[in-house]
Amino acid sequence: MTVAVVGAGLSGLAAARILARAGAKVTVFEARDRIGGRVRTQALAGHRFEAGAEWVDSDHHRVIRLAEEAGAGLVPQLGRVDWFVTRDGRSEGTPPGTDEAKLREYCRAHSGGTLLDAIRAVAPSPLSAFAMAARVRSDEGLDAEDISTEGFLAGQGVYDGREAGEMSAFRLGAGSSSLCDHLAEGLSDVRLQTHVSSLTYNLRKINLTISSGLETFDHCIVAVPPEHAVRLAASVGMALSRPRVAPVVKAALRFRDPFWEGHGWNGSMLSDGPAQQTWFTQDGGLLMAYVCGREAVRLSGTSSAIEEIVRGLDALWPGAAAAFAEGTFVNWASDPWSMCGFSARRSDPSQDPEGRLAFAGEQFSEWYGFLEGALESAERATDEVIHAAN
Ligand SMILES: Cc1cc2nc3c(=O)[nH]c(=O)nc-3n(C[C@H](O)[C@H](O)[C@H](O)COP(=O)(O)OP(=O)(O)OC[C@H]3O[C@@H](n4cnc5c(N)ncnc54)[C@H](O)[C@@H]3O)c2cc1C
Repeated sequence: MTVAVVGAGLSGLAAARILARAGAKVTVFEARDRIGGRVRTQALAGHRFEAGAEWVDSDHHRVIRLAEEAGAGLVPQLGRVDWFVTRDGRSEGTPPGTDEAKLREYCRAHSGGTLLDAIRAVAPSPLSAFAMAARVRSDEGLDAEDISTEGFLAGQGVYDGREAGEMSAFRLGAGSSSLCDHLAEGLSDVRLQTHVSSLTYNLRKINLTISSGLETFDHCIVAVPPEHAVRLAASVGMALSRPRVAPVVKAALRFRDPFWEGHGWNGSMLSDGPAQQTWFTQDGGLLMAYVCGREAVRLSGTSSAIEEIVRGLDALWPGAAAAFAEGTFVNWASDPWSMCGFSARRSDPSQDPEGRLAFAGEQFSEWYGFLEGALESAERATDEVIHAAN
């Protein structure tokens, strides 16, 4: 059996490995000049940082298993947010948390409302409401005013029964890319810089159009981000619904002097400035800024994102601008091969009536938006292919 896998992100690589181990002849097509997709460990001035996926939750069992197998080093993380900064630019410390069960209860009773209204209704104080909204924005990738109470509840099922501290429980000592490198080790035919522009059926085969012409396979797994999946499905007349996606950007910042020490600040923050959420890299050498929602869209369209983020930091922590040395801006929101950070809702991976085409990718899973979802989707898509082949 010959199988084409379109996309060498975590889902495509995982699917390719499962099928290769099952005896299929697998070819992976990847548009970029590297594997990994939205997983990318980079370096700035010798300090490693995660341009894409970084945190592993303690109930993301597939990722944890793969990390152990890859020797990626699961490094336990302590609470990453210790400071909250209010709209007037003052640091306010950590406010009392919002009861998430109460929030879900309120959302159930108020369909048609926005999540922001729900947060404001149940939070113990305006500062807690701000902190909760900022946290939700980082988790969901969208502003709370842009999330409906129903939409929020739809994604909450997988969190039921979770205990505090399970979110973002680990980072990977060897870098997130080590997961993808490990999966790719046993794959003999991975073609980089090979963009698949359309699919067609031909008798019992499926054809992929790439720049050098047509390539024919028994089966194909499309493992690309939401917008690309919609396009490739449309090329064979399948209508995938377009999922809501979260615009996300990240910046890695290096400072000449540890300006934060004078402020007694540990680098973790949720704010309403351009640097919405910050934390240090594992070696402590870089400060990461993670920006989602409307602000991510705005920054992704400017050429001065780094300067704006540093100016925003300086307004909160005077001395940041003077100490700033250099930075890297990672614009996932406008990246042509992701066109988003991650999906904000689950998609339905429609079944191909001929059984030749299956869909993987984080968006097609219970754990949409996460590495865990990418791995989960690979298991389902490969099951579909193996089932169709038998
Ligand atoms: C900034 C950021 C932070 C994140 N943080 C976390 C986190 O902390 N924890 C977590 O679990 N998850 C996180 N995620 C989400 C996680 O990165 C993704 O869920 C996961 O990597 C998606 O894998 P995938 O295989 O579905 O898609 P991708 O990684 O996007 O892989 C798809 C591949 O398909 C390729 N491609 C697209 N179109 C074509 C085509 N037509 N032909 C050939 N190739 C094509 C792309 O180049 C890409 O390599 C984060 C994402 C971002 C952007």
